[in-house]
Amino acid sequence: MRSEASPLPLWIYRALLFVGGTAFVVVGAAYQFGEPGLVDPRAARLSLGLAALALGVLTFTSAHVRRHAIGLVYGLFFLVSVWQITIAATNGLTPTSAFAVLLVFMGCSAGIQGPRTLAIYAVLFVVAAAATALWVEDPGVPRAAYISTLVAFGTIGVAAARARDENVQHLQDAKEQAVLAARAKSEFLAAMSHEIRTPMNGVIGMTDVLAMTPLSDEQREALSTIQASGQALLDVINDVLDFSKIEAGHLDLVSEPVALRPLADDAAAVVASAATARGLEVVCRVGADVPSEVLTDGARLRQVTLNLLANAVKFTPSGTVTLDVRAARGASGTGLEVRVADTGIGIKPDHLDILFDSFTQVDASSTRRYGGTGLGLAISKRIVEAMGGTLSVESTVGEGSTFTVALEVAEVAPPPAPGSPAGTLLLVQGHDQARDAVVALAMGLGFEVDAVRHADGAQSWLREGGTYDVAALDLSLDGALEVARALRTNPSLSDRPLVALAPVGGHAVPLDLFDAVVTKPVRADRFAEVVARLTRPAVLEGASPAPEAASAPPPRVLLVEDHAVNRRVGTGLLKRLGLEADIAEDGLEAVGAVTEADYDLVLMDLQMPNMDGTEATRQIRATVPADRQPRIVALTANALPEVADFARDEMDGYLTKPVRLEDLRREIERTTGYVAPLSGPPRAVPHARAEAKTGVRVPGADAVAAHLRSLCCDDDVLAVEILDAYLGTDQVLIDALADPAKRSATAHKLKASSATLGADAIAHMAFEVEQGAQNGTDTDSLAATLTHALHDLRVAASRARARLSGAPAAP
Ligand code: ADP
Repeated sequence: MRSEASPLPLWIYRALLFVGGTAFVVVGAAYQFGEPGLVDPRAARLSLGLAALALGVLTFTSAHVRRHAIGLVYGLFFLVSVWQITIAATNGLTPTSAFAVLLVFMGCSAGIQGPRTLAIYAVLFVVAAAATALWVEDPGVPRAAYISTLVAFGTIGVAAARARDENVQHLQDAKEQAVLAARAKSEFLAAMSHEIRTPMNGVIGMTDVLAMTPLSDEQREALSTIQASGQALLDVINDVLDFSKIEAGHLDLVSEPVALRPLADDAAAVVASAATARGLEVVCRVGADVPSEVLTDGARLRQVTLNLLANAVKFTPSGTVTLDVRAARGASGTGLEVRVADTGIGIKPDHLDILFDSFTQVDASSTRRYGGTGLGLAISKRIVEAMGGTLSVESTVGEGSTFTVALEVAEVAPPPAPGSPAGTLLLVQGHDQARDAVVALAMGLGFEVDAVRHADGAQSWLREGGTYDVAALDLSLDGALEVARALRTNPSLSDRPLVALAPVGGHAVPLDLFDAVVTKPVRADRFAEVVARLTRPAVLEGASPAPEAASAPPPRVLLVEDHAVNRRVGTGLLKRLGLEADIAEDGLEAVGAVTEADYDLVLMDLQMPNMDGTEATRQIRATVPADRQPRIVALTANALPEVADFARDEMDGYLTKPVRLEDLRREIERTTGYVAPLSGPPRAVPHARAEAKTGVRVPGADAVAAHLRSLCCDDDVLAVEILDAYLGTDQVLIDALADPAKRSATAHKLKASSATLGADAIAHMAFEVEQGAQNGTDTDSLAATLTHALHDLRVAASRARARLSGAPAAP
């Protein structure tokens, strides 16, 4: 900034100021005293020279003057202007006088304008000086007087510019300091948020653990309030952390190949259940010309998209939320547009400007009504800008808003090639955009699509003798079930596969009518997989679908679990969801089973002997053909970050043990679309009785029984079976605990089975033994205490078994 405005060192300006000032004083004084009383202008020039000199001296001596030099120079110019005008008036306005007045005004502005004005001023000044020196003949004022006037003005103008630069520099320094201070503040905020978040995670994690223990109704209600508030607090902290990280310049972006379709589908799926709860339709469309993979920061793009989608759902009372991913021609490379549109409350035009400011909610009542921190959009905008893109918004109050992320990305994989002809698909769906989205998906898979927008249309299409290879029916359409029945009872169509498109958790799907369920918004991969499974035999063989194509929609499940008790729990829970599972006892068996038969879903324990779950997953992913790949969900006792990372990258999800029925149900629905019957909320159960013989909290028989019933949703037979499995194996394990070589693996198993019985303190102790044995520390005395506690638990378990097998089915 400084070098741009004035490249010369300060002493040159000061020297000029001095020379000019001194020359003027001398010349002015000579005239004043040589021909006294002749003309006024000399007095003016004398005073001007004196003032310039004084100012020059003062810039050396007084910092205060330096700081205010610009004001002083301005004032000086003002005085001179008044003088000049007076002189010009007294002398009759001669051309030179008029020119001098003009120069004074220009000088005034030059001092406070930018370098360009100053340069123009300097050129005019030199021309004027030369012209005056050569041609001006003014009877009243000698030429030398004019020249000295101009020199004085020039030096003062330059001094003023110089002072201005100093001021600018001063402001610049102040600004830099402010930025540094703000950054320090943000760093502090980031550190603090992190510090708060860590224990908060602990608090929330422990409430989950607590929720697994027997609780009264009142306690459970209080616990769920703690959980909800904790989560809300964590959300706020995460926002602040993110924001302060960005402000402190710690936003690290990565560039990696990102598959756009799954990213968009995942984001839409996250908001789907909140949207369904509000009766909104969520539509996800990815243009046919959008590259399959691009180079960008996937996690950040997902974060921004999710934030926009969450806002759209939050601020839309009814209608549609649409996520569109489009290709746009970019200046360089591929342009990508991610657009989130809603039909919600909209944003007032005068609020659009402040929308992306931090901590801004356009409506003061917004926090009260909708929650949120007002940071989401500020964060999103900064992220998008850091990625080299833009985030913009268009909105009409009462009609809705559209947020658009525009990015330049490099293409890694081209848009998906259109599928080879796959037959005809009948689509019955009411919602226009949702229907368009499914039509595009089906056409991409090579289907010819007959799209019908209401039940009547479908019925008349049927009467006209329409036919298809596969039909998809939106269950939220009025009369959808009648259409399904009509299709099922039509002699020529009854064996054609029928797919239900159902809102997440919204409808109980009548499984006798449909062959498969795909949840909305329709995911591309899920839709492709389902229609491929249902139509392949028909299309390949050119015949009507083979009988197995019309098999029941529940997924075929393989449960991979080495531990007998957990196996029992797993099969029992699956049975509650109407599913039979095949069993593999370790990773090796799992790989064999998946190679031999087609599974829709593999529930994979991670820690197993012979071959663990991660290795088995890698082998399945590497060896099984793409069209037969099962969904794999990890079962893990400890959700460590690396486990979560692996599950996210290589698997389709993970569940932490002990697995809860509701979580299992949700995970199965998410990964396979199978909507199992909903179970009621967990029952209130009596308090645990602590038996303090060993110093470890051991649940009493009642507590074990209650815990198992809650886990099994009151299925006492299942609870007894689990206890049998436990009592059949625990003695062997307790004995093995004495052997230091087997201690780590044994403690690991005991940890899981104790947690299943609700003995969390014992489970925790087993965990400590496992860790200690792994790290080579002395665990003998801890193992001894654990053994005692396990004996107590065994007593409690067998009493609980007696109680449950003799107890009535439900109280
Ligand atoms: P918050 O966490 O409070 O939602 P955001 O920065 O994400 O913060 O949003 C700021 C404000 O912008 C919101 O409080 C809301 O008033 C407005 N806003 C954001 N998205 C929408 C939308 N889709 N429709 C209407 N208003 C919106």
